Amino acid sequence: MFVDTHAHIMAAEFDDDRDAVIQRAVSVGVARIVAVGYDLATSRAAIDLATRYNGVYATVGIHPCHVAQAGPGDFEAIEELTVDKRVVGVGETGIDLYWDKSTFPLQERAFRWHIELGKKTGLPVIVHDRDAHIEVMTALADAGASEASIVLHCFTGDENMAYEAVAAGYHLGFGGVVTFKKNTIIDVAARLPLDRLLIETDSPYLAPVPYRGKRNEPAHVRHTAEALARVREITVETLGAATSENACRVFQRMS
Ligand SMILES: [Zn+2]
Repeated sequence: MFVDTHAHIMAAEFDDDRDAVIQRAVSVGVARIVAVGYDLATSRAAIDLATRYNGVYATVGIHPCHVAQAGPGDFEAIEELTVDKRVVGVGETGIDLYWDKSTFPLQERAFRWHIELGKKTGLPVIVHDRDAHIEVMTALADAGASEASIVLHCFTGDENMAYEAVAAGYHLGFGGVVTFKKNTIIDVAARLPLDRLLIETDSPYLAPVPYRGKRNEPAHVRHTAEALARVREITVETLGAATSENACRVFQRMS
């Protein structure tokens, strides 16, 4: 029914009740969860979760806010992890100019490295963009990212950026932000080609209404799906089926 294409369920926020969280997701029709790594340790932890739970898959990568702490061997280790069949994507990677601008050159270099890894392995690249729309789109174009499969996760750009992304062949992930009262992202999501749309939670962050401000979890992806279905004037079942099909096409190793 639904695929949560971006969840950090290995985060410490879930240490006390991870089983229950995954069970709740299954019970509301979230058949698959993509556990997204953000450094070497959490990439390994994502694979571990994918081993223990049916319907959980992993991605491996080093988040732009963690590149400065990454050790010299971490990148090679991430690359080695991609041979594991439970790994369905590379990332998250990208550029974050909100938390720390000083590491921009490092972030850009790491981002490029992940895109190359995506091209080499055929795995989709999960892209984080915070206050860095132009930098992200430029880096992607410069790296020839159209040859890779690109997911702009938690999309927060405007309509021009969305259409530029669609033209380049990218997919766009939408999360809890589309349920917030004042947001223009929902208007962008309303008009995009349905076959480029993905849904996600970014758990434990960015919980949708009515859970805004609380810990987010994969079961809540349903509220994002409902908001998108409403604005697109289709049923939530149709939205769920279409975005699940997209997810399986993008994350090819997901069965
Ligand atoms: Zn994330």
